Amino acid sequence: MNYCSTRSGETVSPSYALLHGLAADGGLYVPETFPEQVLSSATLDHKSYQELTELVLSYFFTNFTAAERKALAAAAYNADTFRDARIVPLHSLDTDVTLAELFHGRTLAFKDLALSLFPHLLTAARRQEGECKDILILTATSGDTGKAALEGFKDVKGTHIMVFCPNDGVSPMQERQMRTQEGENVRVAAIQGNFDDAQSFLKRIFVDKDVRDYAAERNILFSSANSINIGRLLPQIVYYAATYASLMENGAVAAGEIVDVVVPTGNFGNILAGYFAKKMGVPIGKLICASNRNNVLTDFFKNGVYDMNREFYTTDSPSMDILLSSNFERFLYYVAGGDTQRVAAWEDELARTGKMAVSAAELTSLRQDFDGDWIDDDETRAVISHVYNDCGYLLDPHTAVAYGVYLNRRKRGLTEGRHTVVMATAHPYKFPPVICRALALPEAADPFLALGEISAVTSLGLPQPLADLRQKELRFNQTLEKEEMKKAVLAFIDTIYEKNKQKG
Ligand SMILES: *Cc1c(COP(=O)(O)O)cnc(C)c1O
Repeated sequence: MNYCSTRSGETVSPSYALLHGLAADGGLYVPETFPEQVLSSATLDHKSYQELTELVLSYFFTNFTAAERKALAAAAYNADTFRDARIVPLHSLDTDVTLAELFHGRTLAFKDLALSLFPHLLTAARRQEGECKDILILTATSGDTGKAALEGFKDVKGTHIMVFCPNDGVSPMQERQMRTQEGENVRVAAIQGNFDDAQSFLKRIFVDKDVRDYAAERNILFSSANSINIGRLLPQIVYYAATYASLMENGAVAAGEIVDVVVPTGNFGNILAGYFAKKMGVPIGKLICASNRNNVLTDFFKNGVYDMNREFYTTDSPSMDILLSSNFERFLYYVAGGDTQRVAAWEDELARTGKMAVSAAELTSLRQDFDGDWIDDDETRAVISHVYNDCGYLLDPHTAVAYGVYLNRRKRGLTEGRHTVVMATAHPYKFPPVICRALALPEAADPFLALGEISAVTSLGLPQPLADLRQKELRFNQTLEKEEMKKAVLAFIDTIYEKNKQKG
C-alpha cells in the first residue's frame, strides 16, 4: 500500500508518509487504493481490540511483517496504557443509544487511542527507512492532543516533542496536565492566540525550507503528531470496528444491522476515521458531525459551502473550537472522487478567500454518508445536567454536544429504527468548571477543589492520572507570541543538537 498526496500525483511508501507527515506540496497523504468491504460483521465478530488493530494495520501498513504488526498492537494497547482491558468499553443509556467510551487511556481523552500506537509506528518506520536522524515532533493542540502526544512520546528513544498550545481555549486541567509533563525530550509552550493561529503558524514552519535545512544539518527530522499524520488517523478506524463488535456481542444490534454514529468534531480526524471504517465495511449508516457554536461544518453539510469568514468563539468544548479542520482536506479528496487538481483548487480558494463550495451533485452524494448539526454552550450544560439527573451518567462537554445533537435528531424522528452510537471523547473530570456550572455546584477557581465538589455529589472517583497531577511540579511557564514559534523551534533544535554532541 502506497500513499498519495491530496493535491498532486506524488506517491510515497507508508514509512515515508509516517516520517514526513505532510506531503511536500502541502497536501495530506491518503491511501492510494482503498481496502473496501473487508471489515464485515462476520470478520469483526469476537475479535479483541488488539486483534482488530492487527487486522486494520495489515491493510495500511503492508510494509511491516505480521509479527511486527502484532508487536505494535501489543505495545500500544495493554494494562499500562489503558485502565480498561476492553480498551473501548460501551455504556448504554437506553436501548437505542450507546456511548463508546474512548477515554480510558493515560490522559483520559480519545487522542490516547491513536497516540499510544503512533510513536511505535514512527520508530518502526524510522528503522525501516534506515533513518539515523532524531525525530522532532512538532504539534499544535487545542488541549487533548498535546497531553496525549507528550505521554505517548515521553522518553521514547530517538524522538523529541514540542507542543504549542493556545493560551485561549484550553481548560485549566488540560493546561496543568501539560505544564507538569515529565520527560527529558519534551517542551511545552503556550501561544498568544487561538488554536487556528497556532496550527497555521506551525504549518508554515513545516514547509519552511530554511528551518528544515537547519534541522537536517543538525541531524533532526521533523514530524507531526497532529491528526494530519496517517499514523494518527488510521489507528482510529479500529475503535469503530471494535465498537461494532462489542455492540453485536452485547446484543444491542444483530450482525450486519446498520448503526448511525454521532461524533463530536473538531479537526475532522475522528469522524473521517469513521468514514474509512464505513468504506471498509463496518455497518455504519450516517456519520453525524456534531459541532459547538463554531459550526462551520454544520453549514457545510447543509448547503455545501465551507465558509470560515465568521467569528471564532471560545466555548465549553475547547477541542472543537476550530474553524479550519485540518482533516477536512482528506474528506474533500473523496468528495472529488480522487481528483487532486480539484482538491488543490478548493484549497487554494480556501486559502485566498476563506471559502469554498462543492457542487449540488457532490452535496447530494456526500449527504448519503454524512449529516451535521450543532448546539450551543447553554444547551450543552442542560444536556449534562439532564443526563446526569435521569441516568446518573456524567458526560464531558464534548460528548454532551454530540449527545445533544442526537437528542434533537431523535425529537425530529431522524433516529427511528436505527441504533445510534455516540462517541464519548473525554472523561468529564478533565473539565471541572463546566461540570460545576452544569450541575449548579459552586465554581471553585482551583480545578481540584471543583473536582472534590463534583466527586462528593456524584460519588464518581477521581481517575489516577488526575489525582497524580496535584503533586507534580509546574515545569513549563513560557507564553510566546505566535511570531516567536519559529525561534522557539530553532532553539529546541540547538538544545537537542548540543545534547546529542555531548553523548557523542
Ligand atoms: C480532539 C477532540 C475532539 C475533536 O476530534 P477531531 O478528531 O479533531 O474532530 C472532540 N472531543 C475531544 C474531547 C477531543 O479531545
